[in-house]
Amino acid sequence: MNVPLLDLRAQYQSIKPAIDEAMLKVAESQMLILGEEVAQLEKNLAKYCDAEYAVAVSSGTDALLMALMALDLKPYDEVIVPTYSFFATAGVVARLQAVPVFVDSDPVSFNLDPEIVRAKINAKTKAIIPVHLYGQAAPMKEIMEISEEFNIPVIEDGAQAIGTQYADGRHVGSIGTMGCFSFYPTKNLGAFGEGGLVTTNDESLYIKLKQMRNHGMEPKYYHSFIGGNFRLDAIQAAVLNVKFPHLEDWHQARRNNADLYTKLFIESGLAEPKNNSDLNEKNAVIYPKAIWKNHVHPNYHIYNQYVIRVNNRDAMRQFLSDNKIGTEVYYPVPFHRQSCFKYLNPRDEDFPIANMLSEQVLALPIYPELQPDQIEFVVAKIKEFVQK
Ligand SMILES: *Cc1c(COP(=O)(O)O)cnc(C)c1O
Repeated sequence: MNVPLLDLRAQYQSIKPAIDEAMLKVAESQMLILGEEVAQLEKNLAKYCDAEYAVAVSSGTDALLMALMALDLKPYDEVIVPTYSFFATAGVVARLQAVPVFVDSDPVSFNLDPEIVRAKINAKTKAIIPVHLYGQAAPMKEIMEISEEFNIPVIEDGAQAIGTQYADGRHVGSIGTMGCFSFYPTKNLGAFGEGGLVTTNDESLYIKLKQMRNHGMEPKYYHSFIGGNFRLDAIQAAVLNVKFPHLEDWHQARRNNADLYTKLFIESGLAEPKNNSDLNEKNAVIYPKAIWKNHVHPNYHIYNQYVIRVNNRDAMRQFLSDNKIGTEVYYPVPFHRQSCFKYLNPRDEDFPIANMLSEQVLALPIYPELQPDQIEFVVAKIKEFVQK
């Protein structure tokens, strides 16, 4: 049996006629950038995310960059980010000559720890970027309390979490000052190339973001501030508009796959249902738990990734690869250990959880079209490795 980490062709095959028709329509119109398809996408996704406004852009990275630019981030301003995320979360801060301030993670949710966020606030702090890692909401209640207390804007990095609902039912991207999303093909809502989105409930930010997407130009050839080319192609929006009505079903298929993995890990004796938070004789696998403290919500996780923690991770990964099972490590190097951030002099001992995660995490195949027998095969092979 072959179990790839992701099978984008399976999804394309399931909706091919509608996708092909939508792309041809764009080709025939030759309206290639922004336009009606993009406006429709923005309308669909603003509503879906419970946000007043949405601005579609060229990538998730550009969404984050624009959000920071819209806050008029200046050199030496500080922005609090988790040390454990995809590079873009911190890269955009440094690109604006501002200072990314790293915080350690929570070992259960893998999201940033709000107690540490609070400890890092000072007069230079200009934004907080919580990441809804792997598709699970960050602790937004605690983050928004800090935001309100110190009057600091929050940019939600929802690149992996479009459609995730927080414990109070609100969709991520509508809770902070702005929300940023990615349509990179591996995300739950993936384009046929690059794309991203910024959401906000603030009308003046919305107007600024729209202008910023097109070099800050308004009216034509007049620039009151400096933006960039952050525009989305019509063909990407057309593909996304076809995929959008299927998104909830795909999330649910991922959740069902996650539930089956977790059930099989418990049944096969690889994990204890209770107290499954430390790796020991009884827990060879720490499975993901879609909870934060007492908050539980059925849609709290969209499982962009299903990430387990194991010992001997690299050897297990090799063993699974030898058995034609695709896995990935998100992420092997936290920001505080990246050579490009050495100039910030981070102290390695300040990040014990992220360091541990970087050695233990393993993302298993979770895509919607994955079949139960494939999941059974993955769990059986993990058991075989553990018992070797
Ligand atoms: C994918 C991702 C991004 C960047 O999105 P791109 O569209 O690839 O630029 C940012 N943050 C996180 C957490 C991501 O997973």
